Amino acid sequence: MSQTVPQIIERCQALFEDMNFTSVKEWKAAVPGRKAIGFMPVYVPREIIHAAGMLPVGIMGGGDQLEVIQGDAYYQSYICRIPRSTLELGLTGRLDCLDGMLFPSICDVIRNLSGMWQILFKDKYVKYFDLPQNYQDGAGGTFYIHEMQVLREDLGRIAGKPVTDDALRATIALYNENRRAVQDLYKYRAAKPWQAPTAEVYLVLRAGMVLPVEDFTQLIRDYLAATDAVARSRRDNARIVLTGAFCEQPPLSLIKSIEMAGCYIVDDDFMLVNRWLLEDLPISGDPIAALATAFLSGSTETGAKYQPRQELKGRYILDAVKANAAEGVIFAAPSFCDPALLERPMLEAVLDRVDVPHIGFKYAENSAQMQPVREQAGTFADSIKLWSSP
Ligand code: SF4
Repeated sequence: MSQTVPQIIERCQALFEDMNFTSVKEWKAAVPGRKAIGFMPVYVPREIIHAAGMLPVGIMGGGDQLEVIQGDAYYQSYICRIPRSTLELGLTGRLDCLDGMLFPSICDVIRNLSGMWQILFKDKYVKYFDLPQNYQDGAGGTFYIHEMQVLREDLGRIAGKPVTDDALRATIALYNENRRAVQDLYKYRAAKPWQAPTAEVYLVLRAGMVLPVEDFTQLIRDYLAATDAVARSRRDNARIVLTGAFCEQPPLSLIKSIEMAGCYIVDDDFMLVNRWLLEDLPISGDPIAALATAFLSGSTETGAKYQPRQELKGRYILDAVKANAAEGVIFAAPSFCDPALLERPMLEAVLDRVDVPHIGFKYAENSAQMQPVREQAGTFADSIKLWSSP
C-alpha cells in the first residue's frame, strides 16, 4: 500500500532524531558481519564503501537535540559546533556501531578532528580523506585515484575480501539512480515548492544519510508520488536560494522559520554529497577512473570547492538563481565556518552586479532563538514582493 506524506515524514523525522543510529544497528544486525563506515560533510565517494558491502553513514553533527558536554573540552570556543557535537556522539558511545570514520578535506577543523579520532578511537578505522584541489587530470586526477585506491584497499581488508571492479560498477549504477531521484526531487520542489516544503525535503534527504542507497532512492520516489497526489495551497512567497549550509547543518526550526516567514527555498546546498557529482557515471570501464573524472569535470560548484579562475568565481550562485527562477539569495552559514564565510563577500559581489537581492546570517546547529531569523527572512520576502518582483 502506498504511503502518505505524513507517514513518510514521520519515519524520516524519527531517523533524524535518533542520535543512537538504531537503523544502522538494525541494518548491521540483519546479516552477521556487516559493517558501517561513517563520513562527515561534504563529499566522499560513497560508492567505494557500498561496493565493499558496507553501509555509508553520513554524520551531520548532533543538531539541536544533543547536549555537548565532553566535546566542548576539546575545542576552543571560536570554532563551529559540528566537531564538538560529533566528538560528543563518539565519546558517549553513540557511534560505536560504526566500524570506521572518514573525514574528507574541507577545512582545518575537520582535519584536526580526524587526528583526535585516531587518538581517541584506536580500535576503529579512521581516514582523513584528502580530495584534490587541483582539477587537472594529470595532477589532481592522479592524486585522487591514488587516494581512492588506498580507501578501496583499506575497506577490502576490513571486509575480508577485495572490492572488485564489478562490485564498484554495480554500485555506481545504484548511485546513478539515486542521483537522478535526488535531482528529480530538487526539480519538483523548484517547480512546485508549495507541494514539497523544504522542511520535508530536508528530512527525506537526511534519512538518506543513514539508509542504504536502494532504500533512499525508493523513499524519494515514494515521497514524490505521495506529495504530488494531494494538492496543497500555494502562497505568494518569495523564491529564494539558500547557500552556505554545506557542512554543519542548520536546525530544522531554522528551515521552518524561513519558510513560515514567506520564503520558498527553491535551491540549497544541504548534504551536498547527494548532488556533488552532476551526471550519470559510466557503468563500464575503470570505475575508479570514472569516479575521478566525474569529480574533476562533472562536480558541482560550491563555496566548499576551489575555483582557480577568477572570472568563474561565484557564477554558480547566479546560475542557481536563474535555473530556479529565484528572486533572492539567503546566505546562511554556520558561525566561524571559514569556507562558507570567506566565500560570502565574493558571492555577494556577483549578485550585486546584477541586482539580485540577498541577506545573510549565521547559525549554529543548536541555535534556538528563531525570532531574529523570522524577522529577517520575513522582511526580506516582503521587500522582494514589494520592490523586486515585476
Ligand atoms: S562548519 Fe565550516 S568550519 Fe566547521 S567543520 Fe564544517 S566546513 Fe569546517
